[in-house]
Amino acid sequence: MIKVPALDILWAALPEARVVGGAVRDTLAGKPLSDIDLASPLSPDDVMARLTTARLKSIPTGLAHGTVTALIEGQHFEITTLRRDIETDGRHAVVAFTDDWQEDAARRDFTINAMSMDRAGTLYDYFGGAADLQAGVVRFVGDAKTRIAEDYLRILRFFRFFARYAVGAPDAAAVAAIEELRDGVLLLSAERVWSEIKRILAAHSPLAALQLMQTTGVLERVLPEGFDIPRLAALIGRDAPVDVLLRAAALLNGDIETIAARLKLSNEEAEILQSWQIPNALPPTASDADLRRALADTEAPTLIARSWMSGNWPELRTRLATTPRPVFPLQGRDLTRLGIPQGPRIGKILAAVRRWWLDGGCAASHEDCRAQALLIVVK
Ligand code: ATP
Ligand code: MG
Repeated sequence: MIKVPALDILWAALPEARVVGGAVRDTLAGKPLSDIDLASPLSPDDVMARLTTARLKSIPTGLAHGTVTALIEGQHFEITTLRRDIETDGRHAVVAFTDDWQEDAARRDFTINAMSMDRAGTLYDYFGGAADLQAGVVRFVGDAKTRIAEDYLRILRFFRFFARYAVGAPDAAAVAAIEELRDGVLLLSAERVWSEIKRILAAHSPLAALQLMQTTGVLERVLPEGFDIPRLAALIGRDAPVDVLLRAAALLNGDIETIAARLKLSNEEAEILQSWQIPNALPPTASDADLRRALADTEAPTLIARSWMSGNWPELRTRLATTPRPVFPLQGRDLTRLGIPQGPRIGKILAAVRRWWLDGGCAASHEDCRAQALLIVVK
């Protein structure tokens, strides 16, 4: 039984709706629920009307696809009318509404994703999903090859769920079908590919999935610039935090700018990955002056991330996190006040004083720096 107060309110308005997909799977697996999606045999218009009658807020999210969102006590629930596929081409599907629960389950990708659960807690499991979940098997609903050819994204989705739920060897039919149809991933949009890579990396232990991606030839197709699984394994072996970008920084090989442009990473992601590429300059034996110097140029979280790339050094991390970031105490106007005329010379003097300040471990005061500036001017 799925016990969520807001869901009871929704069920009062839509008693025939069932929770579907990930929320059923994760309830059975005893994992925390992310989104709760529901399905209903009612048409989207009828779903909207029922929500309105019950004075619940509804949003026509994707009426053409049959999806209405209900907003209850700050929680979003997507309610999608049961569907079956009419036409597929590897990327898009034309769907029709149906009132047949099994038809809707049959168009879902994996047995563990094809279960539904009603208000009373009854589980509807048409394809043996509960047993597969228990056994740690990720299996396509129906014929693996057919299902992949309908939608090549399912190749990457396979590895997402394999990374999260699989125990032991992968399903042989799935592996054979993926090997045969692996070029299909080349048709996927960059955004989709990057988003699935991140989801795979977000799994607690993604290494087996990545190794399988490598042996099936999928990894070289989604990351043609190169990849380094042993480096990721070393990072994970160090018990580094489960941070998708940190893991990506370890996995990706090759020029980050090229990869970022091809996979359409956000600017923020690209900058972070770029900043972590720099080999770690701070050994765990770094002195306090070394630490301050590094912090003057680079924020602590970046230095901590870089340190994870090289080792597990809790003491260094603590020092980085607790050392205040040194601020260079001199500004351009301090120099004009000393009588140095405005112009490019100011910048040069500031840079020279800053280098001197860094060399001294960022210990010099405002006064010291002013004196040093005067010395440079006199020379
Ligand atoms: P997650 O916890 O990663 O969100 P999820 O099961 O909710 O897992 P979603 O990608 O959110 O996964 O999709 C919701 C459900 O929709 C899936 O459980 C599956 O039943 C169905 N589904 C989504 N994408 C596809 C697809 N490409 N082919 C077939 N079924 C799909
Ligand atoms: Mg989901």
